[in-house]
Amino acid sequence: YVSQRAADMLGRPIEELRIATCHLGNGASTCSVKFGKSIDTSMGFTPQDGLPMGTRAGAIDAAITEYIVDQREFLAEHEHMDAHEVINILNKKSGMLGISGVSSDFRDLEAAAAEGNERAQLAIDVFCYKVTKRIGSCAAAMGGLDAVVFTAGVGENSASLRAKIMEGLEFLGLKLDPEKNNVRGKETIISTDDSPNKILLIPTNEELVIALDTARLVREYENAAAASDDEQ
Ligand code: AMP
Repeated sequence: YVSQRAADMLGRPIEELRIATCHLGNGASTCSVKFGKSIDTSMGFTPQDGLPMGTRAGAIDAAITEYIVDQREFLAEHEHMDAHEVINILNKKSGMLGISGVSSDFRDLEAAAAEGNERAQLAIDVFCYKVTKRIGSCAAAMGGLDAVVFTAGVGENSASLRAKIMEGLEFLGLKLDPEKNNVRGKETIISTDDSPNKILLIPTNEELVIALDTARLVREYENAAAASDDEQ
């Protein structure tokens, strides 16, 4: 949805754009949409891979599992942990919640960090650093980058996180306009007018894409069924 909207907003065909979409909410991921097709995403076999999220660790050294089990046994909290319990910790108790010890909600993290909570600040720093790096990965995957799109709860609402994420990405021709970035929840371009590549804020509408894809599949099924009836 957001990559097509980005093409519409830029007045260019999606078939000639390389777009990095950053869906940053409770769940978070990036996607490289090259010439209208998704060719790479930060998620892996499960959503556990990639960016850290509200309660998910994101990509992490797989050997951490042994460390978690050892620590837990040391703390006598669990005598034995199985794979499900380790995954439960990585999925439900890690990420922003685990690092900050405060909350999985970015509004709480920003408030706590403003009051001097170092772990809340660390969680924000880790998140932004990893998103910045992923945007670099998107550029590498697509052989360049024409636009970055921010969407979902954090991407649509937090000007400060967007600014922090874009710091240092000027070398990719992405110049954030601080005044244009001072906005929430509406479709708009937030890069400077002279930015070679563009940064956009686009509220997501995943339900619309699901509905359109479903309608298309039903139509295709009905056409195939009608063709088969004709043959008989
Ligand atoms: P989503 O999963 O897309 O509904 O996004 C939920 C996340 O967006 C939560 O972590 C919220 O804290 C975050 N969020 C919503 N509004 C804001 C805001 N104004 N500033 C920072 N984060 C926000």
